[in-house]
Amino acid sequence: MTEPVSIALLYPELLGTYGDGGNATVLAQRLRWRNIPAKVIDVHAGEPIPGGCQIYVMGGGEDAPQALAAQELRAGSALVDAVEGGAAVLAVCAGLQVLGQRFAGQDGKSHLGLGLLDCETHRDDGPRRIGEVVVAPDAELGLPDLTGYENHGGVTTLGPTARPLGQVVVGHGNAGGDGSEGIVNGRVVGTYLHGPVLARNPALADHLLSSVLGPLDPIDDPEVDALRKERLHAARHPHMHMPQLSSGWRRLLRGN
Ligand code: GLN
Repeated sequence: MTEPVSIALLYPELLGTYGDGGNATVLAQRLRWRNIPAKVIDVHAGEPIPGGCQIYVMGGGEDAPQALAAQELRAGSALVDAVEGGAAVLAVCAGLQVLGQRFAGQDGKSHLGLGLLDCETHRDDGPRRIGEVVVAPDAELGLPDLTGYENHGGVTTLGPTARPLGQVVVGHGNAGGDGSEGIVNGRVVGTYLHGPVLARNPALADHLLSSVLGPLDPIDDPEVDALRKERLHAARHPHMHMPQLSSGWRRLLRGN
C-alpha cells in the first residue's frame, strides 16, 4: 500500500484563526477525491515538527500566540530543513509574517522570523485591515482570481528577491504601498487570505499539491465554482450584497 501524503498542521492552537486549519483538510480531501491516500498530522506547540511531510500548513493568529509560534519554530530547524528537502508550505497571515525576516508585535517590538520568505512586517498607525479581498495572481502561477478575507494590523514590505502572490484588486493584502498581496518563494506560499483560502480557491490548493506531487487530474466542482462566483462578486460589489439593510444603512456603509 502506498504511503499516504502527509500534511502537517503547525500549532493549530496558536495559529488557527478563522478556520485556517481547514486548509490542511482541503489539501487532504482533494487528494482523497483523486484516490491518493493522505493524512493530516496536527503538530502542537512543544512537540517536534516531523520531517518528511510533503506539505506544512500554518494559519493566522493573534500577536502573542504568533510570537510564541515564531519562538517554537526558531528553536529548531525542522521546517527550514523540510523546505530545503522539497516540502511545500502554506502560511496564512500571522504564518506569513512569521516566515519572513522580522515582524512587529502589537507593542511594536520586533521579533525574528524564520527567513523563509524575503519580507518584513511592521505596524503603522492605521486601522486594522479588515474585509473581503480579491487578488489577481501573478500570471506565471496560472491561477484564477483569488478570494479571501483579511484581518491584520501588520504591514508587510517585500525584499528584493521576493515575488508577490499577486496584486490586490479589492482589499489591502500586504498593505506596503505596492499593491501586492502575499509572497511566493519556490514551494513556500504566504498570503493574508483567510477563508479558509484553499476552500475558496481550490486551484491554489492544487498548485501547492502539484508543486510536490507533480501534475494532478482536474476535479469538477460546480458547487465551489458557484460559491467562488458569489464571493468574487460580493467583494467587488459589496452594496449589492446587503439586501436586508435599509438604503440609509447601505449609504452609510458605502460612505456617501
Ligand atoms: N497578529 C497579526 C496581525 O494582526 C496577524 C493577524 C492574523 O493572523 N489574522 O497583523
